[in-house]
Amino acid sequence: MNLKDPSLFRQAALVGENWIEADPKNAIEVSNPATGEIIGRVPKLGAAETRAAIESAARVQKGWAARTAKERSSILRRWFELMIENKDDLGQILTIEQGKPLAEATGEIVYGASFIEWFAEEARRVYGDLVPGHQKDKRILVMKQPIGVVAAITPWNFPNAMITRKAGPAFAAGCAMVLKPAAQTPFSAIAIAVLAERAGMPKGLFSVITGSARDIGAEMTSNPTVRKLTFTGSTEVGAELYRQSATTIKKLGLELGGNAPFIVFDDADLDAAVEGALIAKFRNNGQTCVCANRLYVQDGVYEAFSEKLTAAVARLKTGNGMEEGVILGPLIDQPALAKVEEHVADALSKGARVLQGGKRHALGGTFYEATVLTDVNQAMAVAREETFGPVAPLFRFKDEADVIAQANDTEFGLASYFYAKDLARVFRVAEALEYGMVGVNTGLISTAEAPFGGVKLSGLGREGSKYGIEEFTEIKYVCLGGI
Ligand code: ADP
Repeated sequence: MNLKDPSLFRQAALVGENWIEADPKNAIEVSNPATGEIIGRVPKLGAAETRAAIESAARVQKGWAARTAKERSSILRRWFELMIENKDDLGQILTIEQGKPLAEATGEIVYGASFIEWFAEEARRVYGDLVPGHQKDKRILVMKQPIGVVAAITPWNFPNAMITRKAGPAFAAGCAMVLKPAAQTPFSAIAIAVLAERAGMPKGLFSVITGSARDIGAEMTSNPTVRKLTFTGSTEVGAELYRQSATTIKKLGLELGGNAPFIVFDDADLDAAVEGALIAKFRNNGQTCVCANRLYVQDGVYEAFSEKLTAAVARLKTGNGMEEGVILGPLIDQPALAKVEEHVADALSKGARVLQGGKRHALGGTFYEATVLTDVNQAMAVAREETFGPVAPLFRFKDEADVIAQANDTEFGLASYFYAKDLARVFRVAEALEYGMVGVNTGLISTAEAPFGGVKLSGLGREGSKYGIEEFTEIKYVCLGGI
């Protein structure tokens, strides 16, 4: 790394008002997935530190909520500006711990910062209502108040943006936040906490706790002071946190797994569909919850699409994300690599064929070749589970009703995509897909302005957009009598 500001790479956790430096005897080692090298350490903390952070959060949250929306907005705005000013450093920290190419990592910083910018603006628009009363002498007042102390648990695939998408609306609404970032990627979280301090955020409002996921999670879910838990990660862990939160009746925000269909109809613009598929499938090396997991291509264009896609995929360069021109980095770790290998082996054993890639990359480590599979069907693991890697499985379909049934035949419902030109079809299919998000003639849908979230086992609640801030507020009804 060659940081302009080395103080952004801090090997410490932030517990309430105090930084706790990593003690090598009791630390979590963080490695670079491209090289396997240890890049640093963070403290291994647990329930006690989490409790202390929650107490600090509760102490300062009321004062934060009592400030004017404009004051909160100004600090968030400054935080956004600092992220942008330091985007090159933050991008390097992200690449070195997560593996994605530097340009993509820097892109994530800009994208992540946009949530802080957006919610700095939304902070001033948390409006209530004045409702006509049910009796002559009464008026109904509806006010929105911050929910209070929020706990957040985030994954490694977007070490910056999955935090800002939660922290932006939480702080804008007047909440405090205790965050547990993923063990693989704590340094991006810590760096933005350093910048939050510099932006003037009150001490104790934002904590970043590194350590045992189980212990930290158990404290977050059982502590009655925490009024909302916001989680992005696997459905399995999300369900466990949901169960654990039941006794304290917390509000839950869950962004869980997906199994996105990507449908190419006969009337699609094939070049645009290939371009969209590259983004929707191969961004972050296939490791996003909105990644296209199943590519359904209609009979009439199947051969042409698969040829074009295979040629485009063959041109994607795999390597260390710090190298120029690399499009695909390593997978995050060995279990991720094992899952990709299992999915491909399962598909091949059931009759699929490899058009491109199909094995570990010659670079070794956790690198896997960008892969296209053909003759894939619903009986294969790739149809049911998220592969979370650079594998594009092609399914052939005949008509619209069939493909909708197949696309919906999953317990998940996060993102979906389709390419078609016929206007009536566009409406029919968009309405029929049982997903929280539908990309029509585009492979890239995430943005601060839009509501991100899923249905079914993909989660609860929405992040981003004007709806995102409501997740961090409670509605209070005040009945005004004697008028
Ligand atoms: P992924 O497949 O993205 O690693 P996980 O759901 O395993 O998904 O991890 C997402 C986040 O949840 C990470 O920060 C991880 O440390 C955390 N996590 C995993 N298990 C638990 C748990 N039992 N309690 C609380 N947090 C957990």
